[in-house]
Formats: sequence, structure tokens, C-alpha cells
Amino acid sequence: MKLDAKAIRYLTSEDFRVLAGVEAGSRNHEVVPTPLISNLSGLRGGSGVNRAISNLAKINLIAKVKNAKYDGYRLAYGGLDYLALNAHQKAKVIYSVGNQIGVGKESDIIVVAHSSGSQRIMKIHRLGRISFRTIKTNRDYLRHRSSASWMYMSRLAAMKEFAFMKALRENGFSVPEPIAQNRHTIVMGLIDAFPLRQIAKVADPAKLYSELMNMILELARFGLIHGDFNEFNILIKEEEDPDAKGKAPVSEEEEDENLLLTPVLIDFPQMVSVDHANAEMYFDRDVECIKRYFRRKFKFVSDKKGPTFAEARKLLIKNPGKRLDVEVEASGFSRKMAKELEAYMQEVGATGDGEGSKNTDDEDEDDDEEEESGSEEEDHSDADENQTSEDFDESTKRLEELRVSE
Ligand code: ADP
Ligand code: MG
Repeated sequence: MKLDAKAIRYLTSEDFRVLAGVEAGSRNHEVVPTPLISNLSGLRGGSGVNRAISNLAKINLIAKVKNAKYDGYRLAYGGLDYLALNAHQKAKVIYSVGNQIGVGKESDIIVVAHSSGSQRIMKIHRLGRISFRTIKTNRDYLRHRSSASWMYMSRLAAMKEFAFMKALRENGFSVPEPIAQNRHTIVMGLIDAFPLRQIAKVADPAKLYSELMNMILELARFGLIHGDFNEFNILIKEEEDPDAKGKAPVSEEEEDENLLLTPVLIDFPQMVSVDHANAEMYFDRDVECIKRYFRRKFKFVSDKKGPTFAEARKLLIKNPGKRLDVEVEASGFSRKMAKELEAYMQEVGATGDGEGSKNTDDEDEDDDEEEESGSEEEDHSDADENQTSEDFDESTKRLEELRVSE
């Protein structure tokens, strides 16, 4: 489901109140009866509400459902998107919307801009988009609200990601700047960089490798394991090395060497605490992911073994950072929410986008051959694979102002 923000400016504030009414009604109604929508919208019934309802249904923000007992409406993903966009616009977080640059399994990534023109990224969480149908409806957390669950769970994912991004950023980790969260969306700073996956050559793989391993250890020292630490979730900023200034590169090789590579970590909905029951498995998987990627892509194998979870634990005891797992819990993303989200993500198979997650099913992980065939690329969106620096520029050109008509 793609975000199409164009229709937003033709919506009236009345339309938005009705849309918010459908959202509020969905919390405890599978299908929200029309009189309830009218009530919850705070508008006094009549033709206004009916006109708004048919407007919203026409552009698929809500969908009519015929029920055995009564007819009514349910909120569509598009409706939730618009509510979030509207809130971001009101809060002056987003002024205009550009291109979608990524379609993940569980998210859409869109370039947006502030009124100052500075570009940002909006990540729309779409948990359950793929395999929602496979969910068993007898689960506790779904019992009373099976259609609302994707909304709730996507919101939890956004809350979790935002809380961790904030905690990490405040503690000096190289992550995007968290700007705002609303419903199932977060807005963050745009990193003008590409995923490691798209970096063809690295002049000094050993250096980058050790930086990444240090990042994993540093996360653990602050109580955290990323859980999906792979070549898609590490963006590599390429900057000119200030030390190399003035010296014109004589060869391509030298040009590469003059680039300073800074990894920026993204994608946090699956982070776990070092106290998680499966912490060691997650930790090892993150480490192994990087090892395998460097071995296959850059033909680099470190002479150092590990790091192991036991080593990480030792560091944490000897020289602990602030416990960010605990801090995030206290910030409003509770342990109960974390549990609900984890259970749901497992249920819908939302275990991230990288090799790490696939690795669990991948018995012959030492088989280097199959790697180059590109077979695993199938799982990833074209948007991810073909992203170029022009995408950001193109996006700027095509930013559409969001103007909700009054
Ligand atoms: P998913 O959970 O779907 O994997 P990610 O957060 O990993 O979503 O984002 C998917 C892709 O979108 C990334 O691989 C990256 O190319 C791009 N992306 C995400 N966040 C940013 C950002 N802040 N700046 C630039 N690109 C980003
Ligand atoms: Mg990702």
C-alpha cells in the first residue's frame, strides 16, 4: 500500500473529524456503525457527516463493511496515514511530501520536508501487511479487535522505534535524529547515505568491520542488542577525509582511500534487551551477519574471533553505560507493550529485512557460493536495491505541499 498524499488537500476539517471518528470507533468495534461515527466525530449528524463518509470511502480512507447485524465502516491503512500526516502537518513537523524511497516488508519510507526546506524521512510502519491473514484470531491480543490490531501493532512498532532512536541518539550513538512520532509513523532526519549493501568497494574493510563490531559491543554496554544488524540497516556516509584535503587523488583507488566512511544505524523495532531470554542468540546473529557479509562481499575475514556475548556481558559489568533498555521502558514503551509487539511480530513473521532473520532457517550458512548468485535479493524491494543519490534530489523536486482545505 503506497502513500498517496495528493488527496489530502481536498479534505476538509470536517472530513478529518469524521475520519478521526472512525479511528476512535475502531478501538472497540470491528465495524464502526454510522451513528457512532457521527457521534464520535463531534459533528451534529445530518448531511455533513454523510457527505464526509462518502468522500472518505471514495478515496479509500475508510471502507464500507456489510455486517450480519449492521452496516458500517472500518478504517483503511490510507485513513490512518492521513490522520498521521495531518497531525504532523499541524505540529509543523511536515510541510510537504516527496517520493517513496523504500518499501520494506513492514514499512514505507518517504522523503518529506519541513517548511524550511530541510528534508526528513517519514517511516510508516505497516506491521502485518504481508501475512496478516495467517494470524490466529484466538490470540489474546486479537480477541476483541482483529481489524484494529494492525493499527495498534504498527503504532507500537513506531513508538518502540522512536523511543530507542531517541535514547540512542541522546547517548551519542550514530543514528538518525528522531523528530516526531504519531500513530504508526515516525519522522526522522534524512541521512544522505546508502545502505552498506550498496557500497561496492571499501578501501579499508578491516577498519569498517571493527567499527561495526565496536558498535555492537557498545550497544550491549548500554543494555541493547539491535536484532537486525545487517547491510540494509547500516547506512554508510561517505565524506571527504579532511586530512586528505588538498592532495588530489591520482587514482581511483586513492580517491576511495580519501573517503571517510561513517556508519549510521537505523531500524529499531526489533531491538531487545541484553536480559532478553534469547539475548545471546540475537547477539551472535548480529555479529555473524557482519562477519558473513564482509567475508562474502569484501573477502575480509578478521583474525580476531568473536566478539561473544560473554565478552559483551563482561564489558557491560566492568564499564556499564546507562541502561537504555530500562530507560526506554520507563519512557512509556512498557514491558507489556514490548511483549505484545514481540509476540505479534513473530506471529506475522515480521522479523526484519536482513540475512540475520533468514539465517535462522538457513542451514548451510557457510556455503559461500550461492551468495553471489543474487538469489537472496528477491526478498528485497527494488526500491532498496536501486536507490541512487538522484532519488533524494528527485524527491526534492517532487515534494507536494500538504494543504488541508478548511
Ligand atoms: P524496514 O523496517 O522496512 O527495513 P528501514 O528503517 O530499515 O525499514 O528503512 C528501509 C530503507 O529506507 C533503508 O535501508 C534505507 O535505504 C532507507 N532509510 C530509512 N531511514 C532512512 C534515513 N533516516 N535516511 C535515509 N534513508 C533511510
Ligand atoms: Mg531495515
